[in-house]
Amino acid sequence: MIHFDNVIKVYANQNRPALDHVSVDVDKGEFVFLVGPSGSGKSTFLRLILKEERPNGGAIHVAGKDLSRLSNFKVPHLRRRIGCVFQDFRLLPNKNVYENVAFALEVIGKPRRFIRKVVPEVIELVGLEGKAHRMPDELSGGEQQRVAMARAFVNRPMILLADEPTGNIDPATSIGIMKVLDRINRTGTTVVMATHDAAIVDSMRKRVVELEDGKIVRDQSRGVYGQAY
Ligand code: ADP
Ligand code: ADP
Repeated sequence: MIHFDNVIKVYANQNRPALDHVSVDVDKGEFVFLVGPSGSGKSTFLRLILKEERPNGGAIHVAGKDLSRLSNFKVPHLRRRIGCVFQDFRLLPNKNVYENVAFALEVIGKPRRFIRKVVPEVIELVGLEGKAHRMPDELSGGEQQRVAMARAFVNRPMILLADEPTGNIDPATSIGIMKVLDRINRTGTTVVMATHDAAIVDSMRKRVVELEDGKIVRDQSRGVYGQAY
């Protein structure tokens, strides 16, 4: 599903590569934690998958497509098939829960009937049934992140990228967030989650890919946050 072959990324005016000969394969349906200190290249890795950045070397394939051969007008189509969740939720403040989720389908031209059917289903999947009419500022951080996950998932993306999704959420609430991500993963969606949250990584026992100075220093199935030798 995601294939990096010797990928190098060097930002302008940086002397050190943000990603340095990174090779990794993520299969359809996998759940992968991307860990490593701040500045190790996690966000760069996620941005390259979305073609928000281009590599300076190597090759990237996403869902069988060589991103270097993907014309610019096809990039929105790629991004449509990849859901994104961020540390800071990024909800539309003037839309309620239902409207935030529905909007993701309206902008890609889905029929109203379809929207009315699937939005409540996804709101239920993330555990927000009964809260469809709340505004974002009437929700806790954990609930706002559930809305963000519903919005990211409502179009049934093949990949869900999560950048520090529990970064602004207390540990008890984070467990619920991870249950939703796990539920989404079980539908067959490939999940890649960048995180500093050691407790979460240790509790899930999923694949762990660790970056350090732009290099993969560990790739462990059923791994933990810290190095376990
Ligand atoms: P992480 O997500 O692990 O914190 P990043 O991918 O954001 O790491 O950053 C990796 C390196 O690339 C860091 O040295 C960072 O300062 C640099 N970097 C990230 N984005 C940019 C950018 N847009 N321009 C220049 N340097 C960047
Ligand atoms: P976070 O990992 O906290 O989400 P990011 O690494 O995504 O943060 O960086 C946030 C924004 O700042 C991005 O748009 C990124 O391109 C930019 N950025 C990050 N590091 C640098 C840098 N060293 N120089 C310039 N821009 C940067």
